Amino acid sequence: MTIRTYSEIKRKLSAGEAVVMTAQEIKNCTEKEAAEADVVTTGTRGVMSGTYGVFTIPIKSSKFSKATSLSLNGICAYPGPCPNENLNLIEAVVFGTASAGNYGAGMLFRDMLENEPVHVEAVSKDGKQISEEVFFEDMPYAKLMSTRNAFRNYSAMTNPLDHALTTIFHALDFPSNYKELTFSGCGSINPIQNDPSLETIGIGTKVLMNGAEGFVTGTGTRSTAQSPNLTACADMKEMNPDYMGGFMTSEGPECIVSWGVPIPILNDSLLKDVRILDEQIQLPLLDVSVRKPIAYIDYGKLWNEVSLSVKVHADKCRKCELCRVVNSCPMSAVSDAPDINRHRCFNCGLCSTICPDVFSADLGSVDVNIDGIMRNIPVACRQSDRARALKISRELKSRLLDKTFVLTEPVEKLRP
Ligand code: SF4
Ligand code: SF4
Repeated sequence: MTIRTYSEIKRKLSAGEAVVMTAQEIKNCTEKEAAEADVVTTGTRGVMSGTYGVFTIPIKSSKFSKATSLSLNGICAYPGPCPNENLNLIEAVVFGTASAGNYGAGMLFRDMLENEPVHVEAVSKDGKQISEEVFFEDMPYAKLMSTRNAFRNYSAMTNPLDHALTTIFHALDFPSNYKELTFSGCGSINPIQNDPSLETIGIGTKVLMNGAEGFVTGTGTRSTAQSPNLTACADMKEMNPDYMGGFMTSEGPECIVSWGVPIPILNDSLLKDVRILDEQIQLPLLDVSVRKPIAYIDYGKLWNEVSLSVKVHADKCRKCELCRVVNSCPMSAVSDAPDINRHRCFNCGLCSTICPDVFSADLGSVDVNIDGIMRNIPVACRQSDRARALKISRELKSRLLDKTFVLTEPVEKLRP
């Protein structure tokens, strides 16, 4: 049985002798090659509503005592919990699910990081109205935290009803009669999927959150032993806007977060865990109207032999007066059809469902037996971005190898 210690792996990393593989590489190599791995890098990117930001916002335009209400680009924020009296700044919390119409906090966080001006509206305790533009670079403190992120287990959704529904699980109204399927989760490269007993992911584990170094702080709300999730905290100033953002659903905007997590291979049991394949990971197919399982499928059909991104056939674009893709892209990544802004694109595939002549992608489909009837349900929209999660796992590997990211040993085990 192979036993490695943290100090041995850290010594090898610092001497440039460690073997680091991405979660995808370790599944594709031979057993002999896999046995050499010291660290495996995992990743996930998806709609993760359990996220909030904490900011210090300097106010220059007027002197005021203490803010009692606040909005950022129209989005409700919460001043405090510190008193902030007579300091001409507002310390505030913004929930990742907060929104003003179609503009959500995930979009705000990304806009802030891209240094777009943030319109601050506040009212002070003494009734003063504050209205000014603030830039992210002038905010001395900006951190993102999570209340629950990076679940091990996610679900797929379909709508069995005879009418369409609005839901956070589809970018458009969810069509009726099992016509479409949506799903979440990056499958076999997902962090906890590669360390399901949370042997190496613990309090103090250093991770990448939206590309910035952060630390696991615990498990989050609704975390269970069967379905654990994680909380973390990271400096937003160090984040990469391409890894975050807001995803528009038919129930309003949601917040996107990405994680990269290193798994040190301390023993044979961990080596076995990181070799898990998509087809070995089951997920329930839920009736979206009541969130109850109606069948069980696996990630093999969802992530193997499908297109991780969309191809554009610009010559096929008819330049319609009203482009449905421009109106429906959940990331606003298509402003001038058919060009895709690849930095914004989430690789959800919805454009290939809406306008398949111009945008091509094989999103896959599943064959399921529901109440004795065999159905083939095509994937219409993905709420996890495996292409970018793979990129994160590669970036984490490079950073471990060039020593710009240092592996940490958890200070305490997680109790999901
Ligand atoms: S991308 Fe499709 S829907 Fe949009 S203008 Fe072109 S042909 Fe029309
Ligand atoms: S895959 Fe298409 S619909 Fe989805 S984010 Fe990218 S451009 Fe928009």
